[in-house]
Amino acid sequence: MVMDCPVCNYKGIPASATKCPGCGADLTVYHDLSQLESGLRLHRNIIILLSALLLVSLLVLGYMFLFSDGLSSRYTRLEMQGKNNEIIDLKKKTVSFKNKF
Ligand SMILES: [Zn+2]
Repeated sequence: MVMDCPVCNYKGIPASATKCPGCGADLTVYHDLSQLESGLRLHRNIIILLSALLLVSLLVLGYMFLFSDGLSSRYTRLEMQGKNNEIIDLKKKTVSFKNKF
């Protein structure tokens, strides 16, 4: 990896160099700065990743909650329909039973 001198803009300095071959500027400070920057970038990436993970798990949980709620209300509705049909059948049976006498 190569870098440009931030002082004289000398191109192609090896990243391991501690002094600029053009102007002799001390490059160790810039090495530290770039290391700090990449460290901060990594830290930020981890925070973004964790936030995304949290968001996804919240979405999944919300979806599961809604989906299970939808299923159970549908089941209850079906059950109620079944009970209604039983009642209607019983009424029909009672009417036909009464009609026999
Ligand atoms: Zn320089």
